[in-house]
Amino acid sequence: MSAPPDHHAAPVLRVAHADLAPYHDQRWARVCPTCREGLLLARRDLTLLILAEDLCTRCGQRVCYTDVARLREADGPGPEPDGIESGDFELP
Ligand SMILES: [Zn+2]
Repeated sequence: MSAPPDHHAAPVLRVAHADLAPYHDQRWARVCPTCREGLLLARRDLTLLILAEDLCTRCGQRVCYTDVARLREADGPGPEPDGIESGDFELP
């Protein structure tokens, strides 16, 4: 396997967490949209708040989640959301 690409110096990518491919059954981990092999693990600050900025574990691509408010809401204290928002799906 060749050395991973290095995207540490690449511009921050603005993406919606919801648009990224989930990694197996991980709740927050997403596959890096740049190298498609590394992971974005949804980092947290000292108060466990999910950070808007994240970093690929493999290529170092930085991303900024445009929907971080929604992540924090889904992650935060309080009841789990029990419904799926309508409009997210299209039936075949
Ligand atoms: Zn990557």
